[in-house]
Amino acid sequence: MEALIALAFLVVTAGTVPVICYHEFGGPPEFSGGPQFDVHGLNIPISAFRQQLEVMEKQGYYPVNMRDLIRGKLSIPKGRRPIVLTFDDGRPTQFRYLENGSIDPNCAVGVMVDFHHHHPDWPTRGTFYIIAGSDENGVPFDQEDLERQKLKQLLDWGFELGNHTLTHPSFKKLTRRQLLHEISGGDAYLKRLFPSLKVDTLALPYGDLPENLNDRNVLVKGRSVGHAYQNIGVLLVGGGLSHLPGEKGFDPFRIPRVLPIPGAVEKLLTSAGP
Ligand SMILES: [Zn+2]
Repeated sequence: MEALIALAFLVVTAGTVPVICYHEFGGPPEFSGGPQFDVHGLNIPISAFRQQLEVMEKQGYYPVNMRDLIRGKLSIPKGRRPIVLTFDDGRPTQFRYLENGSIDPNCAVGVMVDFHHHHPDWPTRGTFYIIAGSDENGVPFDQEDLERQKLKQLLDWGFELGNHTLTHPSFKKLTRRQLLHEISGGDAYLKRLFPSLKVDTLALPYGDLPENLNDRNVLVKGRSVGHAYQNIGVLLVGGGLSHLPGEKGFDPFRIPRVLPIPGAVEKLLTSAGP
């Protein structure tokens, strides 16, 4: 994981945008033997997520999908500023159906849909970074027969699906061939389920870039086993605030993200400068 920049020193300015990197909501401890809610914000109570949405809305933020931010094609109500909510790994606490067929009000999607009902001016936007379903990894969000239904539901609401690779390895030491296989495999999985889907952005597993600089161009585009992909953005884990497209310092292929450490992220979101 990229170095975690202390959120305490960051201020959101007109030229920057918080891209929040969510993982688990009330799930098991991220690190075995560690506390349930770790200090990095990798697993946060669902009540903390609700509170963070309240703070975002109150502070004038407006949720947008990653691809729309990168393209700079945003229609944001006057006086609001963009924020991107991202969700990695297809964790079960992000999107869960109850046995009676309704969406668990205590999963992240349940909270966002409910929040939208109470705040119609807060649209259902955000980007889910999906690891390809496989015998080894299970299906996204873990409920076997609901895989396609959930992903379709997210698209229908207006969320974006992004690539989080075939099997989620660190990219640090992979060969060029392995990198192509992983990125292409994640992209192909989503397009098999939804043939007309556009997959535009890639979140790096653990935020790790390939150490071999010559191989980094495969993050942008490539082809493996006859399947071609192209990304307009690549996301890290941690690293602080992103610059907005058009601002000096914006690099669409190295977009930093903010981990949602309860308390610290609320402080950051209320820090807005000029
Ligand atoms: Zn991940």
